[in-house]
Amino acid sequence: MNTDAILITGVRVVDPGTGRDEIGELYIADGMIAEVPRSLPRDVRVIEDGGLTAVPGLLDMHVHLREPGREDAETIQSGTAAAARGGFTRVMAMANTQPAVDTPARVEWILRRAAEMGAVEVLTAAAITRGRRGEELTDFAGLVKAGAAAFSDDGCTVADEEIMRAAMARAAGLGRAILDHAEDENLKGGGVMHAGAKARAAGLPGVGEEVETRIVARDIRLARETGCRLHIQHVSCGASIAMISAAQQEGLAVSAEVTPHHLALCDEDVDPQDASYKVNPPLRSAEDRATLREAVAGGVVAAFASDHAPHTAASKARGFLKAPAGICGLETAVGVTYTVMVRGGLMDLKSWIERWTLGPARILGLPAPTLEPGARADVTLLDLEHSWRVDSAEFVSRGRNTPFEGWDLFGRCVMTIAAGDIRYSGLRGVSER
Ligand SMILES: [Zn+2]
Repeated sequence: MNTDAILITGVRVVDPGTGRDEIGELYIADGMIAEVPRSLPRDVRVIEDGGLTAVPGLLDMHVHLREPGREDAETIQSGTAAAARGGFTRVMAMANTQPAVDTPARVEWILRRAAEMGAVEVLTAAAITRGRRGEELTDFAGLVKAGAAAFSDDGCTVADEEIMRAAMARAAGLGRAILDHAEDENLKGGGVMHAGAKARAAGLPGVGEEVETRIVARDIRLARETGCRLHIQHVSCGASIAMISAAQQEGLAVSAEVTPHHLALCDEDVDPQDASYKVNPPLRSAEDRATLREAVAGGVVAAFASDHAPHTAASKARGFLKAPAGICGLETAVGVTYTVMVRGGLMDLKSWIERWTLGPARILGLPAPTLEPGARADVTLLDLEHSWRVDSAEFVSRGRNTPFEGWDLFGRCVMTIAAGDIRYSGLRGVSER
């Protein structure tokens, strides 16, 4: 823990909420961003580097921390350490732990544990239905009172329309978003990758687009009926984007997130021998990927989210048919999205920062992240100039499951400061006076 004041100087400061973008200074004291004092206190820590960029602390609104129940894959401690190393000062944990986060006591347990063990702030979603079985609604009011930031059965879809309608009506009444894992499990059957030429050639059962689009269509209709804020998680299909865009133009509170892997990869990249490419929803066609990129750049998709899903090496070694789906994403999310979207010339830096800060904060009804004096000192310091190579052996997550092994990326977090404390530092060759 670092309780000294910190002066970050000579860096590019980019704060999309205020439009600030200049070479300048940031001063942190007592956990807050403050005006730089005329004379610095004696014990101030000075970080000086001309090549770095300071942005408001990044927020990943979709992570799996696996605790309780699967501490062999991840814990709140290891997952939040991975978040800090990845550049995130806040993460939203999903409720599909074992047991599920479906009672106020379990919400309180997660938040208490995170306060004790967490390297960064943890927000938690609460389950929509008991045990995430899709049958009986949880105690929404009690869960909000306990601190649940949103509702999601992520990993599963609430298949019964009546139950989903009732859930959305309750969430609307409480001013919380429903985070929607859109997947028609009956239609999906045993599918493991996008239903396309690659799956046919590999002899693997496919997942058609309608597995996602049917639920997206149904839930947009329910959002219209109930007035609920509906957030579609990990959108994978171009056809879903068209519906989400139409809903927004109609004025509905419908939003979406896209993962780094759905922006970087498509089904043609999948190695059927390597289950680190197995993810749910699956990597879609190159055409879908192009539509997702456009939607992120244009703002129809307001948030990136990693869908960080660590798994043990043993479970991923079971092969494409049997291995669990998911990518260990917190420590590559910044690099992958920056490289594909900004270095790739598809969006500007300010918009890219927004998708990791203002976008998810708005969706969740949180105050806008900012570097203005008076704000809590959540700061991410990035090196956007030098490439780095993904080496999963360096991950502090317990997961190593990544399809990005060996990739050369631009965009790397070199320091994460949360509430004025340095929670991660990978600074090399930077002068600290
Ligand atoms: Zn999901």
